[in-house]
Amino acid sequence: MAGSGKFFVGGNWKCNGTKDSISKLVSELNAATLETDVDVVVAPPFIYIDQVKNSLTGRIEVSAQNVWIGKGGAYTGEISAEQLVDIGVQWVILGHSERRHIIGEDDEFIGKKAAYALSQNVKLIACIGELLEEREAGKTFDVCFKQMKAFADSISNWADVVIAYEPVWAIGTGKVATPEQAQEVHAAVRDWLKTNVSPEVASSTRIIYGGSVNAANCAELAKKEDIDGFLVGGASLKWLLFVALKTPL
Ligand code: PGA
Repeated sequence: MAGSGKFFVGGNWKCNGTKDSISKLVSELNAATLETDVDVVVAPPFIYIDQVKNSLTGRIEVSAQNVWIGKGGAYTGEISAEQLVDIGVQWVILGHSERRHIIGEDDEFIGKKAAYALSQNVKLIACIGELLEEREAGKTFDVCFKQMKAFADSISNWADVVIAYEPVWAIGTGKVATPEQAQEVHAAVRDWLKTNVSPEVASSTRIIYGGSVNAANCAELAKKEDIDGFLVGGASLKWLLFVALKTPL
């Protein structure tokens, strides 16, 4: 843990769940004992956000998985930052690889969303990460730094930002990055922040890892100096991961 602030665990539920399964998951989260020095944020699908927000009883916060680029209006199917604030959603995940590579969002579009969300006081889980072919071509740092620059150009208040390094080849594949592979990129991203933003932002910003994190591998990853938390997909649908985190932290 190098970034200041608490260890951060985000649960990205993606497009999963039903009213019933989500209600069960929230009951389990409500019953779990969380370490006091861990921030926990869950990101349900939009349609269940209000249900989750209203049924969580502890200090777990709620994130959206996406947001519109600007003020709301005639944008069919979109949800605005103002609407997130209206129902008490504090966070949004932007730049996730599924939105970059399946939906086709590019750096410029993501940067605009980031700037607008922050302007409305919605905090950001800003995702970056390389494809397998980019890693194999030795381009991991180039790709991550380019994505970082697009975020950095849109961010003035870094206190409201958590960076999530999520190698695309590790997301949902069961192929977790080794603690050394993750640490190498986290350290490089921190160094990039130091050079391109400021030493203060580099040392205070939390850089979390995502990609096939589960109860079995999180302890080793959490030991690495520059890993300040996790963004968890599949395993976050089982509350056990959060309980497991009591041990390594
Ligand atoms: P995963 O997803 O844990 O299922 O690999 C992580 C993410 O996409 O945030």
